[in-house]
Amino acid sequence: MIPLRASYQGLSPYSPPKKPCRVDLSDNTNLFGVPPAAARKLGEFHAELLARYPRSYAPDLRRVLASGLGVEAEWVTTGCGSDDVLDSALRAFLEPGEVLAFQDPTFVMMPLFAKVNGLRPAAVPLRADFDVDPEALLATGAKVIYLCSPNNPTGTVLSRASVERVVDEAPGVVIIDEAYADFARGPGFVDLALTRTNVLVTRTFSKAFGLASLRVGWGVGHPRLVAEVEKARGPYKLTQLAESVAVATLNEDPPWVRVWAQEAVANRERLREALRAMGLKPLPSEGNFLLVPVPGAPEVAERMRERDVNVRAFQGLTGVGDALRIGSAPWPLLETALTALRESLR
Ligand code: PMP
Repeated sequence: MIPLRASYQGLSPYSPPKKPCRVDLSDNTNLFGVPPAAARKLGEFHAELLARYPRSYAPDLRRVLASGLGVEAEWVTTGCGSDDVLDSALRAFLEPGEVLAFQDPTFVMMPLFAKVNGLRPAAVPLRADFDVDPEALLATGAKVIYLCSPNNPTGTVLSRASVERVVDEAPGVVIIDEAYADFARGPGFVDLALTRTNVLVTRTFSKAFGLASLRVGWGVGHPRLVAEVEKARGPYKLTQLAESVAVATLNEDPPWVRVWAQEAVANRERLREALRAMGLKPLPSEGNFLLVPVPGAPEVAERMRERDVNVRAFQGLTGVGDALRIGSAPWPLLETALTALRESLR
């Protein structure tokens, strides 16, 4: 007999609707290419290394990331994507049955991580201005509060005042997911991770850094927090290949990342104008994507897929309703998407 875990029944492995499409704007990755240093490092990788385990905790990457922030390596943790860092952090700071509070809407994996870790999710609606509601989050009494800025899928950023209030008054750890920070106007909240003892900020190489397939994410926080996350995550989550490519990119390619992040932002704004000209009302975004309220979004997205364009559809998002999330990309791809959208709206 298979010993089924009762709380997993009714769950299915996460997989967003994906049909191979010529234009895929559904996952907010960098469609402008791959950092040149990453491609070069990949070519130089010695195949013999594949026979050996990587180092347990990606020490070179931790050191390079930490030195960029002016701290020691013990302030940084890494993982197989920031997904892995987030999931490990939940295991590190919460026992099964405890409450995880998060803003709603937010990253779709959060309720799923809560479920698979046996946690009780407390989804706290964002306010009408898409800022968090500190009072409502704190009222949950949760020992872990998850915030996301710029937020997926809305693209909106959280205010300094609200985030600081949550951090100041939270009874436990505040995780701030900054997967899209490289596209935002402001510096984000890493300074809080460096000056408080209860803040873990997570970032990723999957978006602006153009390395989604490499699966590298990281977190920064007080060494006491980081040590717990490292325990919960376990060793060998980054391959030697992933670590060395990420390090080469950090050492050599920050200008490349900046240039293409700026281009993604410029095209996002151009797309926003085009959508407004169609009578739609995309939300203001500081990510590399736009959320556009569209009634019947899942059906519209299906019709767009028939036209070889994949965008992400959401149904009944709190405070938004049905909506499409469209990733920024080189302009010709966005033009194709706009045509497909025009033809798919009914
Ligand atoms: N956080 C947010 C808000 C995201 O949108 C994503 C990816 N879609 C992630 C984390 C995870 O990214 P990765 O695991 O590739 O680092």
